[in-house]
Amino acid sequence: MNLPTTDLCFNPVRFVLLAFWFYWCVYLLNAYYKTPMVSNSRRPFCNLMILFFGPLFVFGLTVVNAVKTVEANNGSVYDVFAILLGKGKFSKSGNPSKTRSRLNVVITTDKFNNSVVISRVEEIIADALEMRASDLLINPVSAEETQLRFRIDGMLRTINTYPAQEAVAIINSIKAISSMDVAEKRRAQDGAFSVKTDNGPVSFRAATAGVLHGEKISIRVLNQAQKPLSLKELGFRAKQLEIVAPRLKRNSGMILVCGPTGSGKSTTIYSMLRTLDFDQKNVITIEDPIEYILPNASQIEVNEKAGITFASTLRSVLRQDPDVIYIGEIRDQETAQIAMQAAQTGHQVFATLHSSSNAAALVRLVDLGVKPMLLVSAVDMLISQRLVKKLCNKCSTPATLTDSQMSSLAERKISGGSLRAPAGCKDCGFTGYYGRTGLFDIMVLDDEIKAQLLDGSISVGKFKQFGDDSCRTNMQKSAMALALEGRTDLQEVKRVVSNL
Ligand SMILES: [Zn+2]
Repeated sequence: MNLPTTDLCFNPVRFVLLAFWFYWCVYLLNAYYKTPMVSNSRRPFCNLMILFFGPLFVFGLTVVNAVKTVEANNGSVYDVFAILLGKGKFSKSGNPSKTRSRLNVVITTDKFNNSVVISRVEEIIADALEMRASDLLINPVSAEETQLRFRIDGMLRTINTYPAQEAVAIINSIKAISSMDVAEKRRAQDGAFSVKTDNGPVSFRAATAGVLHGEKISIRVLNQAQKPLSLKELGFRAKQLEIVAPRLKRNSGMILVCGPTGSGKSTTIYSMLRTLDFDQKNVITIEDPIEYILPNASQIEVNEKAGITFASTLRSVLRQDPDVIYIGEIRDQETAQIAMQAAQTGHQVFATLHSSSNAAALVRLVDLGVKPMLLVSAVDMLISQRLVKKLCNKCSTPATLTDSQMSSLAERKISGGSLRAPAGCKDCGFTGYYGRTGLFDIMVLDDEIKAQLLDGSISVGKFKQFGDDSCRTNMQKSAMALALEGRTDLQEVKRVVSNL
């Protein structure tokens, strides 16, 4: 009699099939380990599914992705099959935004008629917006050549070089649309223009200057249509939010955001203002320039040349019964003085200050002539910040540490297993980084600090020293935490911290 058990125990055909399936799954896992078709958060789940269901799961994933891509491009059902057969007109990158047609940028002007040059400028602007540039710089590098560079995530990237003649035409048309004098090539000029895009209007500020070999122009992108991010999205940690959030609900006091130029101070303030109830509060902002549109707030742009200064505007604003005032930047004694008094007398005041740390900001205010008495009664909280580059999600690789890095990590009892390093791919322009996040140090003026500042038991110089030290330590800790989460690398941590 035949026992059925032999069937179950060992069957060479089944064994070969199973081994083949297993091999196929492992092969696919290797091939799809970093596929852009899934987001990072779903990656572990996806890899597990591939390991068990290999080809079936990958096929499903491809179909879903093809449908998404076609949907994003308003394609038909035939396009899905075309993509699956590898003949699609849509790329198979897996990122619908990458497959979208170019951003449409239109300059509406009656000042310039050369449509060829204008469409060239439109192309440059479309590129800049798509690449998330914050500034565009066009400057001659020699008598024959002019360079176009974009500032992306704080770094300058060379985009193109033009023959001098072509560059002059481009610069002239930008000057024309910015209402500058096209014939004036030596004197520095300022201007502004805006364009229409698929995502709403975008404004630009342009400035020219006569340099060796010709004229240069720098253009700042004011992404007014963009919605401010939440504080969490900016990089505030949960513990920091617990400190910040209740202070945003107060009716008086000053919240100062400190940092060097380009550290994202105003972006942080916009995110804080966004949490306010604009129906209940009269919010007035005084800015230079207006960077985002805040619906329901009264936004005033400073124009120092025309005599509209921060101080004079602030004085007139105080007569308009404001609840909340945002002062773009405190840079003189008068503004500092009026702002402090406003914060003390039932107004919530937000302001930025150019300084390296929170303690340095307080010292700077004292230097500007603000009395310590006024300072401690007006200032509620200080936030100082830096921006750190994030590793590109699509290409970062596990970090290989040098011996000295390993030993220094070991000293601090940190395991560096989760550290990652930049690589470079098409998405990040082969830089290895994509986007930035904030590092924050928060100082609340508690009774102890206030008492010390008032009775002079700690001198201003000493206060700055220990304040700077604690700021550096806090930022270093936050930066290291980011690196251990694999979101930035050790080199970037070092760069940011050494700049503190
Ligand atoms: Zn990349």
